[in-house]
Amino acid sequence: MEIPLVDLKRQYELIREEVNERVNEVLTNQRFVLDKNVESFEREFAGFCRARYAVGVGCGTDALSLSLRALGIRGGDEVISVANTFIATIDAISHNNARPVLVDADEETYNIDISGVEGAVTSKTRAIIPVHLYGQACDMDAIMEIAEKHGLKVVEDACQAHGAEYKGRRVGSIGDVGCFSFYPGKNLGAYGDGGMAVTSSREIAEKLGLLRDYGRVSKYEHRVKGYNSRLDEIQAAVLRVKLRHLEEWNESRRRSAGVYNEMLAGADVTTPLETGRARHVYHMYVIRARDRGKLQEWLKSRGIATGIHYPIPPHLQEAYRDLGHKRGSFPVAERLAGEILSLPMFPELKRDEIAYICNCIRGFKA
Ligand SMILES: *Cc1c(COP(=O)(O)O)cnc(C)c1O
Repeated sequence: MEIPLVDLKRQYELIREEVNERVNEVLTNQRFVLDKNVESFEREFAGFCRARYAVGVGCGTDALSLSLRALGIRGGDEVISVANTFIATIDAISHNNARPVLVDADEETYNIDISGVEGAVTSKTRAIIPVHLYGQACDMDAIMEIAEKHGLKVVEDACQAHGAEYKGRRVGSIGDVGCFSFYPGKNLGAYGDGGMAVTSSREIAEKLGLLRDYGRVSKYEHRVKGYNSRLDEIQAAVLRVKLRHLEEWNESRRRSAGVYNEMLAGADVTTPLETGRARHVYHMYVIRARDRGKLQEWLKSRGIATGIHYPIPPHLQEAYRDLGHKRGSFPVAERLAGEILSLPMFPELKRDEIAYICNCIRGFKA
């Protein structure tokens, strides 16, 4: 059996006709930038997140950068985030000339270790970016409480967590702004790059609207120094079709995770923990294994593709040498990087495929 980590072709087969029709409409109209599809999708996605406003941008990284900018983060400020994340979270802080201050990951949830957040706050701290990694919500009550106490803004990195919930609330709607990526492999993926910032503040939404579009208030009048980072009409047309399936696709991911958990019970790997307060949407199904490298090879030789999200934490990347961290700075994030393995996970994954994967893992001998 050959099983990819993510199979986008199976999904396209199910929605091909509708997607092609909507994309063809855009081609017929020849209106590609900030038109009806983006406008409608912003309204629909804000509704999905149970937030008031949504602003479509070029990618998830831009959603994060522009949100920090809209919140007034600038050079010399410090922004707290987590040592176990994709590099883009940290890049977004750097784009605003602010300093990323990292907090180690939690051993059980792999999200930011709440007990380390308050100790990272200084007089320069302006914001916290909790990352809902792999589709599981961070402990947002704790984050919001610390933010309130110290007067900090909160930007949720929900790029892997479309539809995830914390105590019944949708992620992205809890902090000042929530940021989403529509990179093709995400739970809601476009057919190219795309991103969205959601907020219930009209003021922040208006600022984001200016920043993404040259800072303009009319065609050639520019109120603030802006960017060009807009979700485009073709991507929005695709995303509108896919959004209608997202609930069902997330439920399917959750079902698959349940099957994995069941079939891996007692095997020599650690399965992911779903906390009682979170509705995990399993962007990734991540296990831990002591002999990760050998297990990955073992599975590969049996036709099973896996991934490592992520093999080198941001603080050990060459790009962030200037932060002055070294091996040992964030021991949990480093240990995770050496042990985590993402198994195939996508809504169309079949039960017998999961059974095959789990049998292969159970049969693994280092
Ligand atoms: C994908 C991702 C991003 C960046 O999104 P892009 O659309 O690729 O720019 C940021 N943070 C996390 C956690 C991500 O997974």
